[in-house]
Parts: sequence; structure tokens; C-alpha cells
Amino acid sequence: MSRADTDPSQTGLRMHRLIAELLPIPRSITGDGLRQTLARLRPLLPDLRIHEVPSGTQVFDWIVPDEWNLRDAWIKGPDGRTVVALRDSSLHVLNYSLPIRRTLPLSELRPHLHTLPDRPGWIPYRTSYYEPAWGFCLAHERLADLPEGDYEVCIDSTLAPGSLTYGELFIPGRQPDEVLISCHICHPALANDNLSGVALVTELARHLAGQGTRQLSYRFLLVPGTIGAIAWLARNPSAWSRIRHGLVVACVGDPGPFHYKRTRQGNADIDRAVIAALRHRPEGLVIRDFDPFGFDERQYNSPGINLMVGRLTRTPDGEYPEYHTSADNLALVRPEALAGSLSAYIDVFDALEANRRYLNLQPRCEPQLGRRGLYHSLGGAPSSSELKRAMLWLLNLSDGTHDLLAIALRSDLSPRLLDTAARLLVEHGLLAAVDPP
Ligand code: ZN
Repeated sequence: MSRADTDPSQTGLRMHRLIAELLPIPRSITGDGLRQTLARLRPLLPDLRIHEVPSGTQVFDWIVPDEWNLRDAWIKGPDGRTVVALRDSSLHVLNYSLPIRRTLPLSELRPHLHTLPDRPGWIPYRTSYYEPAWGFCLAHERLADLPEGDYEVCIDSTLAPGSLTYGELFIPGRQPDEVLISCHICHPALANDNLSGVALVTELARHLAGQGTRQLSYRFLLVPGTIGAIAWLARNPSAWSRIRHGLVVACVGDPGPFHYKRTRQGNADIDRAVIAALRHRPEGLVIRDFDPFGFDERQYNSPGINLMVGRLTRTPDGEYPEYHTSADNLALVRPEALAGSLSAYIDVFDALEANRRYLNLQPRCEPQLGRRGLYHSLGGAPSSSELKRAMLWLLNLSDGTHDLLAIALRSDLSPRLLDTAARLLVEHGLLAAVDPP
């Protein structure tokens, strides 16, 4: 990759620009908006495969719904002026609204209008995927201004047999063991939830693919929330056993601290890798136990599937005021926060790849590091005392039972530093890797 590809400020700007470009596409859990979004990613991710699952397909306890497409929508007031228009924001239409063309008094229209009285300037995001309904979402202050009278409403949508679209990208490594990275891709004009996740996944896949072959294989899923993850799992049972680690990506563009939600199992390698790799990052790291709410970690951690998939966000869903409103916009997501999130994800996967057990080949008392030149390996660099600490921890705990993540957690040293120290000790014949590289 060129320098511009790895410069954090350039990376953050590139992610922010991608979010800006994808924002106006009217997305839902099915339909052409999803296809357009994936088509836009294709030039960035040439190996992205796009799958279509026909409406009516049974996927575990669910059925893939009819495909929804939205061409236009508006409300005209008693004076004939347009008061709400899809062209201003795709949030204006209740997602999955049935088609309607009717003139009705404001009193009958009101039950179909969704607003946020507490945040009168913001448009809410509302959906009705599995209950037939129609409606509009608008700023409460706009509703308050509407005069009584007859309103003409139009939702030019179709709900008909078609298919559900999702994207999948596989980057093979030396090992068949896979890391699953999943993001939802179904929200319309919302930047942090969920386009920040789409931008991070895109940039991360480019980074990993551009690095040459890695140890682990990586599988990226860009799926409509809930039904997309369920459909992928139902269609790919043979892949489950290869997935050893995973992360659900969303809400990674705000400047809040990282929040990590553990796997259902609670102490999987991915749980340990996130904590070991991120706990000293300047953004801060809050650890939460698993619960069966939130994003698609619910599906991956269901008891009959039980994959080791955690979730790494900045401020979690529902915990920032702009969540699921028109204020989740390009001002909320910041290039520097996006770049920081990307580098955190890379730190986690580097830690997973570095994780293995070693055996101390000179376990009786400390080996004499000075004689081997190991006290001066970094030529007096500021971190050389840290490197020495890392070597002593590795030598002490490398009894064949502790892996590198266990040593990182116990010593409070970073997996990256321990990996560097382990390589030096292996070079000098003091450590041997127990697990295959
Ligand atoms: Zn959401």
C-alpha cells in the first residue's frame, strides 16, 4: 500500500468521504438501495461477492421477506405546498411502508406521523419490516407548524417477491481458522449507526488484503441487520466450525471511548485479545458482559451456533442522543475517530495472530540476557526497559501453559511488545514456539 493508504489522517478522511457518498442511498433490509451500496464498494473491494436470497426462503425460524423498494414519497399541505419529501432525507419514510396515495385530513394523518417531541429539530428513524404499515417521520417542530386541512400523501413503494441482498468477502490466510467480521448495512441516512461500520470494514479489508498472506483467514459479512445475519448462518453451516474469532462492527465514528461487549462464552481468545490490545489506548476501553440485545452478535452467540464473536464499538447503540435520528450525521462521525477505530481493530487482529504458547528453553533461573546482547537490542531506545520487562515475563510464564495473551494480561504489557520480545528470544535460542506459527 502507498503511504497515503496508511497515513491515519488520510485514512480517516477517506472513510468519512465514503460515508458521505453512501449516506443519500435509500437503504433497507432488502431492495435496490442495498444493491447500490454494495455496488459502490465493489471497486474498493474487488473480491466482494454479492449474494441474493429469494423472498420466502426459510432461514431457521424466519422467512426472508418480500423485497421493498421506494421510488418517491411526499406530503402536500392544504395549500398544495410540499411539507415532507423523500428527496430531503430518506429518513422521512417509515422504512418498509406500504404504498399509499390518498388525501386525508390532518387528524387522520397524525397517527402515521412519527416525531421526537424531546428533540424537535431531529427526524426519527423508524421501521416496520414485519408489520404492514405506512407512515412518515419528520421533525416535531415541522409537525407543530402544520395547519388543519386536507393533506395529499404519496408513498410510491413496492413490496413484492424479490430477494435479500448481502455482501461477503473472504481473505484466505495460511490457516483455515477464520475471523468473522460482520456489519449491518441496512440503515438509510445514518452515519455512525451504521455507515461508520461499513467504512471501517471496507478499509480494514483493504488493509488486510494489502499486507500479503496472514496467518488467519478473514471473512467479512455486510448484511442487513438480523435477517441478513440469520440468512448467512442458515446458508453456511459448514463454515461455523472454522470461525474461531469474530467481531461485530458498528458505531465506530463518534469520539467516545471504545466499548467492548464480550462473547457469550465470556473469556474467548477474542475477548482476551481486545482487552490486552486496547486497554491502554488513549480513547479508553469499557468492557461489558454479553447480553442478548444489540446488533448481530445476538445471532452469532445464540446457543445453537455459539460462535466466539464479540462486539467493538465506540459509544454503543442507544447511548448517544443522536442514535436513530437525523442527527446521526456527518458531523457526528469524525475522520480522526474513524481512523482511531480502524487502528484499534488492526491492533486486535495483530494480537490474535501473535497469540501462541512458547516454551522457555533455559527455565532454571534466568538466562544471562546481557551476555547475549539482549539488554541492548533496541540500542538504548526509550522502550528498551519495557522490552526487558517483556523478555523476563515471557521467560517466566513460557512454561507451555500460558499463551501470549495470558502473558499480556498478567504483565500489563502490550501483545505487540511481547511479540517483538518473543521473536528476539526465539532468535537467541531461549524460547521455542509450542503452537504452530
Ligand atoms: Zn440501528
